[in-house]
Amino acid sequence: MTVAIRLEHVEHEYAGTEESSRVHALSNVDLALAAGDFAILMGPSGSGKSTLLNLIGAVDRPTSGRILIGDTDIAGLSEDALTLFRRTSVGFIFQFFNLVPTLTVRENIGFPLALAGMRRKELDSRTGEILEGIELQHRAGHYPNQLSGGEMQRVAIGRAIVHRPAVLLADEPTGNLDSRTGETVLELIRSVHRSYRPTIVMATHSERAASYGDYIRHVIDGRVLNGGPDE
Ligand code: ADP
Ligand code: MG
Repeated sequence: MTVAIRLEHVEHEYAGTEESSRVHALSNVDLALAAGDFAILMGPSGSGKSTLLNLIGAVDRPTSGRILIGDTDIAGLSEDALTLFRRTSVGFIFQFFNLVPTLTVRENIGFPLALAGMRRKELDSRTGEILEGIELQHRAGHYPNQLSGGEMQRVAIGRAIVHRPAVLLADEPTGNLDSRTGETVLELIRSVHRSYRPTIVMATHSERAASYGDYIRHVIDGRVLNGGPDE
C-alpha cells in the first residue's frame, strides 16, 4: 500500500529550559508528496531535515499545523494510535544505523514483526525473504559489531521494510559510509522503491544520493522551498 503525504502550515518549536533557549526549527512548512514518490530533502546541517522526518514518522508532534498521511491527520492521533501508526506504517533508516547491538542480524530484522505479535513461522519466513533481498543470509547469526558499515546499513534497511511500511524515511543514510558503499546502499533503497512502491522521503547532503530520488525539496532555515505538489 502506498499513501500520499501532505503537510499544511507546519510549525515546530523545541522547548528550551527558558524562553530564550527555544528553537524554532520549522516555519510554515507546506509539503505535498504523491503516493509512491521518492522525494529528497536537501539542505545544510541544522536546516530542519531531521525534524521534518521525525514529524512525518510520528516520532514527534508538530507545535501546530496538519500532517496528513493518506487521510489521517497524525497530529491529532492519541499516543496509542500514534504508536500503532509508527509500528505499522513507517520504516526509518538512520545515518548511524541504530541496530540493537545485543540482537543478531536475523533478530534485528525480525524485531518490528515481533513487536507486532507476528507468529514465529510467518516471522521466520518473512525475515528469511528479507535476508535474501539484502544478500546477508550468511551473516544471519552475526551481531552488528561483526559487520561493516555498509552491511549494518543493509540490515537496517531490511528492518525498516520487513513490515512493508507505506512510508519509508531515510535520514542521511549514506552520511557515514564511503562513496562506493553508499552507492550500494542507494541501489538497495532504489530497488525497495521499485519492489513495492512505498512513499520515500530521504534527507541528504549529497548530490549523488539526491540523484536517486524523483525530485528535490530544498530545506533552508526551517522552511521548505517549492513544497507544493511536484511542478
Ligand atoms: P538537520 O537535520 O537539517 O541538520 P535538525 O532538524 O536536526 O536539522 O535541526 C533543526 C534545528 O533544530 C537546529 O537548529 C537544531 O539545533 C534544533 N534541534 C534539533 N533537535 C533539537 C532538540 N531536541 N532540542 C532543541 N533543538 C533541537
Ligand atoms: Mg539531521
